[in-house]
Amino acid sequence: MAGMVKAVVGANWGDEGKGKITDMLAAKADIIVRFQGGANAGHTIVNDYGKFALHTLPSGVFYDHTTSIIGNGVALNIPILMGEIKSIVDKGVPMPKILVSDRAQIVMPYHILLDQYEEERLGGKSFGSTKSGIAPFYSDKYAKIGFQVSELFDEELLKEKVSRVCEIKNVLFEHMYHKDRIDEAELLNTLKEYRDMIEPYVCDTSLFINKALKEGKTVLLEGQLGTLKDPDHGIYPMVTSSSTLASYGAIGAGIAPYEIKQIVTVCKAYSSAVGAGAFVSEIFGDEADELRKRGGDGGEYGATTGRPRRMGWFDCVASRYGCRMQGTTDVAFTVLDVLGYLDEIPVCVGYEIDGEVTKDFPVTRLLEKAKPVLKKLPGWKCDIRGIKDYDALPKECRDYIEFIEDEIGYPITMVSNGPGRNDIIYRKSKYSK
Ligand code: GDP
Repeated sequence: MAGMVKAVVGANWGDEGKGKITDMLAAKADIIVRFQGGANAGHTIVNDYGKFALHTLPSGVFYDHTTSIIGNGVALNIPILMGEIKSIVDKGVPMPKILVSDRAQIVMPYHILLDQYEEERLGGKSFGSTKSGIAPFYSDKYAKIGFQVSELFDEELLKEKVSRVCEIKNVLFEHMYHKDRIDEAELLNTLKEYRDMIEPYVCDTSLFINKALKEGKTVLLEGQLGTLKDPDHGIYPMVTSSSTLASYGAIGAGIAPYEIKQIVTVCKAYSSAVGAGAFVSEIFGDEADELRKRGGDGGEYGATTGRPRRMGWFDCVASRYGCRMQGTTDVAFTVLDVLGYLDEIPVCVGYEIDGEVTKDFPVTRLLEKAKPVLKKLPGWKCDIRGIKDYDALPKECRDYIEFIEDEIGYPITMVSNGPGRNDIIYRKSKYSK
């Protein structure tokens, strides 16, 4: 019996509620894999153990029947991973089964410093980095001077490589940023500590997943951020440094692309974004403050940074594109309950660029010029939390969902009306294949 791979990914700027959807789908999965990104973004999950902000651990760690995998595509920050494991175990969650790819690369202390120094140097022109070392990490990976987890177990190799890499990094530290040089001996010691911390978890995770698939197991690939933060297809350069697309899930987990059978793209019922960059449907002032305060579960503030998120109305142009680039089979439409306070709900249905209206998401250069074409839909003015059947939702609420579904052209098969695992409404869609 062949297994099944599903991906849970974001359609937009991230923070769409992927953590909740993964946690929910993990009830019926055997393996959950993080395949890209690092500790620069987070998922917030509310379940029977409490409320958790996860940055590195997959959102399946709360079940005892699942194996959680940090795939080769991830930027692995070893001390943060250890801290996260401790923090959940301390709150009473049973020790999860965790495996770390021997091909994952390690976020080095100097990556974090370089990120901070570069943001300082750029001042007001910064890209809004979370200073977790992610951009320097991926730069080094592709410049072929990154460290794979497996290399921690070869002291000779490590020593030679540390000295070679420090030679380059110290030129930047000393002459570009005017900071202290990296102490090689200290770095080697840190890497030995990393080795001891990570050793119990390391294996060939690609082999593990492929064997599991042959045994008929279900695998969930958990994406971080969303389409618009993808380095190729997003709002470059205001993007992250690893691909946020489901198709990268095959690479970042080490499986064949055709194994991915279901792609659940998470879309939030309104928009939010962090960091700089064009955000066409953005709102400001009291209107934004109100939505931010009511948004998500306890307000729209970054899970990692605590930064207030930028707020906006639902963007059909960005979301249709976001769903298309992911290869969406199912849309999970989240945080709909939050909109219950509005008399009318504006939705962005087109972009006006140089006097012409388009529904196709443009390149960044043109996106900067885009103005939103808004359509106002009637609000439903009540609390929809606790509703389990689609037909029990107020008509205006169903109309909102169906209007957006027609605009994006992908099937909304799940509607999330609260942060908890069970706050979910399944529905049939005419767009389902
Ligand atoms: P992620 O990175 O995509 O997982 O998203 P975040 O965790 O940053 O943001 C989602 C936030 O919304 C979290 O605080 C969730 O608990 C919360 N959330 C998820 N789904 C819903 C929902 O349907 N309704 C409400 N009110 N909150 C939700």
